Amino acid sequence: EDVGSQMDRVVTEEEWLQKWEKGNTGFHKEQGHPLLQKYLDVLLNGRSGLRIFFPLCGKAVEMKWLADMGHSVVGVEVSEQALKEFFAEHNLPYCEEPVPEISGAKKLQCTSRNISLYCCSNYDLSSSIAGKFDGFWDRGALVAVNPCDRQRYVSLMVTLMEKNSSYLLVTVSYDPNKHKGPPFYVPESELKSLFG
Ligand code: SAH
Repeated sequence: EDVGSQMDRVVTEEEWLQKWEKGNTGFHKEQGHPLLQKYLDVLLNGRSGLRIFFPLCGKAVEMKWLADMGHSVVGVEVSEQALKEFFAEHNLPYCEEPVPEISGAKKLQCTSRNISLYCCSNYDLSSSIAGKFDGFWDRGALVAVNPCDRQRYVSLMVTLMEKNSSYLLVTVSYDPNKHKGPPFYVPESELKSLFG
């Protein structure tokens, strides 16, 4: 497999914002992801009241599912439009707070559920700002990260992990010569070396 064709590709934050503005958001799943339902038990591992992190969250409906189950959800997303659509589409009230540690960032805090969404770059977060997490739902996240940033991304996720955390990762398998991505093709061998 030749993943070389994708390794130099960079999608800028501006390009992501434009996708949201133009409605080019085919990655969004109205019905939620079947794999989260399938592997929910693995994520929860018999625990309740978890802190669950959604990197590069978009307006993933799974954030509401998990909050409705009593977990507390934290997401991060560069597009404020995406986050506002999330709250609007679920009729969830929220308030906006500045994030003093990150210049230009905002936190959109749901006032009826435990859902806190940071509007900033994923790379601006740290465990001192967002805390650590018991569970991770990584769908459209690692595979959306620019290939050159993968190690940085995974290293950050590791710093956000609580002891005994579980990490659900969804990847896509296809011939990287036939599609430029995102989503990018991340071979299993690379996953193993990234996450150790
Ligand atoms: N996980 C979501 C969205 C996947 S698409 C889902 O399952 O539907 C990837 C998302 O990451 C886009 O909404 C894009 O705006 C956002 N994004 C891209 N780079 C980012 C970054 N550096 N920090 C935060 N969000 C980012």
